[in-house]
Amino acid sequence: MSQRLIYLDNNATTPTDPRVVETMIPYFYENPGNAASRNHPAGWVAEGAVDTAREQLADLINVDPREIIFTSGATESDNLAIKGVFEMYARKGNHIITATTEHKAVLDACKKVEKMGGEVTYLEVDSEGLISLEALEAAITDKTILVSIMWANNETGVIQPMKKIGEICAKHGVLFMSDATQAVGKIPVDPKEVGVHLMAWTSHKMYGPKGVGALFVNRKNPRVKVTSQMDGGGHERGMRSGTLNVPGIVGFGKAAAIAKEEMHEDAARLAKLRDKLQKGLMDVLEESYVNGSQEHRMPHVTNISFKHVEGEGLMMTFNQNIALSSGSACTSASLEPSYVLVALGLGDDLAHSSLRFSLGRFTTEEDIDATIKQVADGVNHMRELSPIWEMYKEGVDIDAIEWSEH
Ligand SMILES: *Cc1c(COP(=O)(O)O)cnc(C)c1O
Repeated sequence: MSQRLIYLDNNATTPTDPRVVETMIPYFYENPGNAASRNHPAGWVAEGAVDTAREQLADLINVDPREIIFTSGATESDNLAIKGVFEMYARKGNHIITATTEHKAVLDACKKVEKMGGEVTYLEVDSEGLISLEALEAAITDKTILVSIMWANNETGVIQPMKKIGEICAKHGVLFMSDATQAVGKIPVDPKEVGVHLMAWTSHKMYGPKGVGALFVNRKNPRVKVTSQMDGGGHERGMRSGTLNVPGIVGFGKAAAIAKEEMHEDAARLAKLRDKLQKGLMDVLEESYVNGSQEHRMPHVTNISFKHVEGEGLMMTFNQNIALSSGSACTSASLEPSYVLVALGLGDDLAHSSLRFSLGRFTTEEDIDATIKQVADGVNHMRELSPIWEMYKEGVDIDAIEWSEH
């Protein structure tokens, strides 16, 4: 990474840990085998390396290695879990429950399920970003086959009450799936302890390489099965065909082993830096608001709205130096406010005025100090140029003004 770039977009992807890259290299040339080649040593070496990685991943989340299915990433794992359960359990029912703040990989898989004749309930969240347990329980019917709730949100870092959701699912005999992409390797994640039966995550959000992911599928009590979404050689216990990405999987395994050793220390250090960043900005910038629960939140994330400052424009003031995400999503024609922030009750303007800061293993205190300064300068600069900010300072009630549309 270039020296000048301050990388605070770790929820979009993390840099690959150099220790991970090192373990991958022999599997490109020296050990070229296909893990499915059972009749020569090159295949055995590849298979052994995949077995080791499977154990490293299983060890991180406290499950049996046989419960791990390798995929190409969390998008595929989410699709396999949701569509695979929908097809496999069609005789039991056709109803799935999820939440409006889920990742698109879950929401769009659910939309596809609706097209295939399924029914989906989208639970709303409160201003903290949390689902209502009462609403969840009330939504369960005798047709419900799956509840899919993410462990931690990618935009706000908000952590859902996993254990309580698991209890409700167990009580009603419904499968519980979780997209835990933003949580695995950063905080302790133990699906069996909280009653999660299927869990998706990806290597490239935990310092491993891109293009490799995993799905945990519970094997016993209950024995869960998913219908494969890719037909071919019957790899991965028939649930996901396709030659395994051996170097990627080796790297993913190493990333899991490092996370197991270092995650507690990383989390404590990042929480301190995140709090310093958040406080440093809130102390000097009036009309700034933290989005989502601060109590139930990942240690390395903060999402802040700076009122009357448009996030995309703000980023332009330091774009060459700091990598961040704003609360605006680029669609084909326009900038749409983040649907996650809108679901928390933010108006379009506050959603557009937000920035997501996601710290990571390689974030330094100097990065945070420089970010506080540059963001504060940027917000002040934009507000100085803003007629709306001027009106606000003169006491005009901006929110009461009705703007005409052109
Ligand atoms: C990044 C992300 C995904 C997609 O993961 P890929 O491996 O890039 O497909 C899915 N869910 C969440 C919550 C994510 O943050």
